This record gives sequence, C-alpha cells and structure tokens, in this order.
Amino acid sequence: MKSICVFCGSSFGTLEAYAEAAKTTGRVIAENGYRLVYGGAKVGLMGTVADAALAAGGEVIGVLPKSLEDKEIGHEGLNELHLVGSMHERKALMADLSDGFIALPGGVGTLEEIFEVWTWGQLGYHEKPCGFLNIEGYYDHLLSFLDHQTQEGFTKKVMRDMAQVALTPEGLIDQFEKYKAPSTPKWIKKDET
Ligand code: AMP
Repeated sequence: MKSICVFCGSSFGTLEAYAEAAKTTGRVIAENGYRLVYGGAKVGLMGTVADAALAAGGEVIGVLPKSLEDKEIGHEGLNELHLVGSMHERKALMADLSDGFIALPGGVGTLEEIFEVWTWGQLGYHEKPCGFLNIEGYYDHLLSFLDHQTQEGFTKKVMRDMAQVALTPEGLIDQFEKYKAPSTPKWIKKDET
C-alpha cells in the first residue's frame, strides 16, 4: 500500500482527543512512508491531519471541488492540490489515488465518503481496506447499528467484517497491511452469509 486516504471532519468536534488523533494519524502515515490523500481543505480535522503529515516530512495530496474552494479554504502548503469540477470527481479521484481509506471522527460528509468507498468494495469495484478510527468511542453507536443491520439481514456478515476498526492509527494501518478483500463480491454469490 502506498497511499492512505483520510476522511474526517471539516470541524474539530468537541474533544481535544479528536484533534490529537488527527495529528497522530497524519504523523504516523508519513513516518510509515505512506502518502496522504485527503479532501484538500485547511479547516477542522482535515487541516490538522494534513499539517501533521507535512510536518513529519510526508507527501500530501488534496482533492477539492472548485465550488468548495472558498468555503473549505484550500490548503496552500500541499505537495499537490487538485481542483476538480464536482464532488463526484473529488471522490472518484481520491479513490483512484488511494490504497486504503480511514474515517477519523467527522460529520455527515465523512460518513458519506467512507460509506461510498466501502460499498464500492462490497461490489468488488476495488479490494482496498476501509476502516474507522474509533477515538473516544466516537463511532460506537454507528458500529452497533451496523451490527443491527447485519442481524436484521440487510448486510451480510462478510461485508460487515470488511470495515476495519481500531483505536489507534498504528493499529488500523497494521490491519490494512494484512487486509484481504472477500473473494466473492456481494452480487456474485446470492447465498453467501
Ligand atoms: P464533514 O464530515 O461533514 O465535516 O465533511 C467532511 C468532508 O466531507 C468535507 O470535505 C466535505 O466537503 C465533504 N462532504 C460534505 N458533504 C458531502 C457529500 N454529500 N458528499 C461527499 N462529501 C461531502
């Protein structure tokens, strides 16, 4: 794996632990020789993760829709900042450039982004790992709901288990390095459980 994409809040959230986790994530990605791909903004946790990766000597690529350039305030210190025509182009380019996807704490934008790449993995469009960094239990309720979906028969266990979960970026990256995508994507085998 050469590039890790981080999805995270354009806000900081309430706990200092979220910003600390974003700092550690950026640093750990860089120190482990990975390139950071992210949404290109300098606000909230997005800016924090990028600044930390740059400070640790890492390479950082941002992808920002032109329409959000002012609103999200593009980061001027990146190795590359791609300005694209739409949110769809942004997510497609981020997915193409990346070999794994981490969701740090964030809002609905963060959820949309990680769920989209996870569902692409479910369909067999890629075999890249997706995971949640569960800082201070931020994702506990979401993970419980995902278990509920599985119990209620809307998500297959093999698909539910694709989502990696860890308490530290080191732990998540270690899981990513060992990750093997399910051999049969969702739509190939109807009876897969
Ligand atoms: P948030 O987690 O809501 O703070 O947003 C984090 C990132 O997700 C920001 O870069 C937003 O531009 C992006 N985002 C917000 N809404 C959407 C959406 N509907 N689809 C894709 N990305 C989004």
